[in-house]
Amino acid sequence: MNPGGWFSRRSRGAREMDTVPDGVASKCLGCDEIIFVRELERNLQVCSKCGYHHRLTSAERLAITVDPDSFVETDGDLLPDDPLEFPGYVEKASTAAASSGVREAITTGDATIEGLPCVIGVADFGFMGGSMGSVVGEKIARAFERAVERAVPIVIFSASGGARMQEGLVALMQMAKTSAAAKRASLAGVPFISVLTDPTTGGVYASYASLGDVILAEPGAVVGFAGRRVGRQDLGGHLPANFQTSEFQAEHGFVDRTVPRKEMRATLAFLLRFFAASEAREGEADGS
Ligand SMILES: [Zn+2]
Repeated sequence: MNPGGWFSRRSRGAREMDTVPDGVASKCLGCDEIIFVRELERNLQVCSKCGYHHRLTSAERLAITVDPDSFVETDGDLLPDDPLEFPGYVEKASTAAASSGVREAITTGDATIEGLPCVIGVADFGFMGGSMGSVVGEKIARAFERAVERAVPIVIFSASGGARMQEGLVALMQMAKTSAAAKRASLAGVPFISVLTDPTTGGVYASYASLGDVILAEPGAVVGFAGRRVGRQDLGGHLPANFQTSEFQAEHGFVDRTVPRKEMRATLAFLLRFFAASEAREGEADGS
């Protein structure tokens, strides 16, 4: 597993891989095989041997999703608040910011994908497990409002353990707030594409993330409200092998389609084009 002590565990943003000190090779989290970092980068952090999708930071996700230089961040100045004065929260958030390179667990903004405009939000699991507190909830709500104002679709990549426990009830309230924002956008005719990545669980799965008009998921991602351990307790130990994965949710109708990472950008562009064409058709129908 660790030949000659060559590999040292270190955490780099959302990615957790065993990396040779000079960053030449990594050990795949899916198959334990050694892969060259450059090959992994070329392959969008997907293992060419087993297909395991390693987690991406929000910056890496944006880079492979939106058109170059098209992303303009919004609400980047909203920083974590400490409504309950929870012991150690401020320090934890500051350490998370330093190690992840982002200042909150979601980054939002305007962008284009294959020339098609959208509002986009990308969660970063490296910042406190992508947890949703008051700032994440506010940024998501504002992103929905912005999509309504601009009359463009909204795409949100989720990656989260759920509500941020350091914000207690205030964090749980974000479930209602983001769900209401998604509903208002829906009533305004704004298409919402929700993309579930590893992992999308807890209060995020149980709120806006499962309210997309189209719900896509990356292969092998843990997707569901509670994980296997809780499920096993509730269901008496009988769980299918793929319980709470993208594939399981797709089989049961909670996910529309699992999309390999290399096809995600083209799939989003296809959907954005479809929505733009539908809107144009409706416009023509209204005008006649
Ligand atoms: Zn692998």
